[in-house]
Amino acid sequence: MTAQTVQQGDLVTVIGLEVHVQLETNTKIFCGCPTEPTEEPNENVCPVCLGLPGALPVLNEAAVESAVKIGKAIDADIPEETRFHRKNYYYPDLPKNFQITQYDEPICQHGELEISVEGQRRSVTIERAHLEEDPGSLQHVGGGGGIDSAEYTLVNYNRAGVPLMEIVTAPDFRSPAEVRAFLAELEEVLEYLGVFDAGRDGSLRVDANLSMISAEEADEDGTIGLEALEAANRTEVKNISSHKGAEKALVYEETRQKNAIQRGRAIEQETRHWDESRGITVSMRSKEEEKDYRYFEEADLPPLRVAGWKAEIAIPELPSARRERFQAEYDLSDEAASKLTSTKQVADFYEDVALEYDPDLAATWVADELLGELNYRDMEITDVEGRLEDVHRLVELVAEDEITAKNAKEVVLREMLDDGSDPDAVVEAAGLGKTGEDEVQQAVVEAIEENPDAVADHEAGEGGAINFLVGQVMQKTGGSADPGDVNQLLRAELE
Ligand code: ADP
Ligand code: ZN
Ligand code: MG
Repeated sequence: MTAQTVQQGDLVTVIGLEVHVQLETNTKIFCGCPTEPTEEPNENVCPVCLGLPGALPVLNEAAVESAVKIGKAIDADIPEETRFHRKNYYYPDLPKNFQITQYDEPICQHGELEISVEGQRRSVTIERAHLEEDPGSLQHVGGGGGIDSAEYTLVNYNRAGVPLMEIVTAPDFRSPAEVRAFLAELEEVLEYLGVFDAGRDGSLRVDANLSMISAEEADEDGTIGLEALEAANRTEVKNISSHKGAEKALVYEETRQKNAIQRGRAIEQETRHWDESRGITVSMRSKEEEKDYRYFEEADLPPLRVAGWKAEIAIPELPSARRERFQAEYDLSDEAASKLTSTKQVADFYEDVALEYDPDLAATWVADELLGELNYRDMEITDVEGRLEDVHRLVELVAEDEITAKNAKEVVLREMLDDGSDPDAVVEAAGLGKTGEDEVQQAVVEAIEENPDAVADHEAGEGGAINFLVGQVMQKTGGSADPGDVNQLLRAELE
């Protein structure tokens, strides 16, 4: 409780995360029910995930494989043997009144993830990552739908038993912006591994712990001793479901704590709920402690030997490694390489095009044109998954000089995205094929004949005259000539 006796200016923000990610398996972690979300509530359920008496769990191998992949990606230790525990608590979304989770022998221990914040690379310690089952979901109805104002609550067990990985970081973050960067990187890694679907509603949920600690406790490099970390009263903010939400909730909580400390009030160790629509955190209850959960071994699941799994299960090249390789191999800027590795699909597509044509041209087309136009339409690369062949063809048309880059971008690509047209068809219909050399030469001669004043101006040394003539030729060729070529042809003809 040193925090409230120091001044506001002397405080350091300390944040640690517990991130829950749903693993993208076909079936639930302890039964064969599908994990695919459905509209109908309580449809994908069975005696196991409803917690009926006598039902026994059977561990899903695919969930364990995903966990091992995550462990490899964060460079964690994977023990020879891992085991499951029961975490006991009563809540309507938890039909058994306990959650099967992992306790003292989690599948991943002591990992790390590198993030980049404002151009600086930093490593975040991941204390552990363990497997557990997702509870069901609650829907608060009436009274505005708020958790504290609803008239009643509906419960849906479709989600109960979906495999989750809980990833617990050390209290390594010093600002909400760092948290946002971490979540973005984590999500990228999980998607690369193919174990996670960011598009699924509620597939990533964050509990964020925040405390304010006296700056005197911190070393020059920002390290804070264990004792001070443990002594600080912190709040745990629950119900955060996006990167942006995490940053907002934490900025709110940071300000709230600072203000309280400034007014001489103590920070309560408590659990708070992030109310996304109101943009505030509200107190829910005093924080549970570990002993409240009465952890004990899950006797229905034997310990699982995973020795050797780490060596056997392969993972793809991860975003950070790929980013570095792109920079070295294709001579890309840090910014371009980051954009081009933002998802595995973007990176794969870029490499495809870069290897066939030219890395620079491919970078412009994928990072700037394609992603730019998609972004403008609020689309992702996954939305044009089946049409990347067409984009590939468009780049080919530019690479082989069959259409101008300007037309490719402003006409063809836009029509392709808006109407689903085929690039060759757009070129044909709009007559965008680059005009043949003879035709351009013909237009050059005509432009000179028809504009003696401009020719005279040019001969008198007026710089702008040639641009006027270029414009005339462009008009005659319907914009399908290359302005640089036209300029050269004109100068040659005028000599
Ligand atoms: P508990 O036993 O209360 O759950 P843990 O040691 O398991 O505590 O840590 C839970 C989370 O709290 C971790 O993400 C950790 O980084 C974070 N945490 C620990 N100390 C602090 C602190 N002083 N300020 C903010 N977060 C903290
Ligand atoms: Zn089931
Ligand atoms: Mg904990």
